Amino acid sequence: MAFTIAIDGPAAAGKGTISRAVAAHYGVAHLDTGLLYRAVGRRTLDGVAPLEAARALVAEDLKADDLRSPEVAQAASKVAVLPEVREALVDFQRAFAARAGGAVLDGRDIGTVICPEAEAKLFVTASAEVRAQRRLDELRAKGVETDFDSVLADVRERDARDMDRADAPLRPAPDAVTIDTSALDIEAAIAAAIAAIDGRRPSSGAG
Ligand code: C5P
Repeated sequence: MAFTIAIDGPAAAGKGTISRAVAAHYGVAHLDTGLLYRAVGRRTLDGVAPLEAARALVAEDLKADDLRSPEVAQAASKVAVLPEVREALVDFQRAFAARAGGAVLDGRDIGTVICPEAEAKLFVTASAEVRAQRRLDELRAKGVETDFDSVLADVRERDARDMDRADAPLRPAPDAVTIDTSALDIEAAIAAAIAAIDGRRPSSGAG
């Protein structure tokens, strides 16, 4: 049966790592929906209009290797405030969520807008400082020259844009389980996620 797991939260809270681990644990497909917005944002940096880029998006575009840069992340959060861009990306996400066997989708509005009927919903968060430090470590590991203050400013700017937008703002669904990873290592965060999801699996008797 289809079992949809919605995982939302701000940038660098550990959502991606948890989502991949959860998908592997349950043997279901995973969609990082941030990549859709990044692929659209990436094309706007080449001068393509946001809606045109969103309508032309194909699965292959999600594999481009330059989607993880801070510049593309900012471009993504700018196109993500546009309701018509969000609308153009809904069908792709819902079709993915409906896959036989189940799916994990992670993003900002999965539990609230894309899959409000998801069987399990998590909201993964952490303090802005902890998230900035993690992002700094990731960027440095990739050889990107930057410093803590500029990464923190970047995280805060993107949080503000994601939380304050009128359409599909970042917030937990009312029935989401919140996992604050500020003081958790990755194994503990994954264990907390699986425990929360197990509580929602039909075999647990919880529905
Ligand atoms: O998760 P990631 O950092 O890759 O997302 C990039 C940007 O895409 C976010 O800052 C957010 O503005 C946007 N996004 C969104 N809704 C989603 C996923 C990402 O608005 N479901």
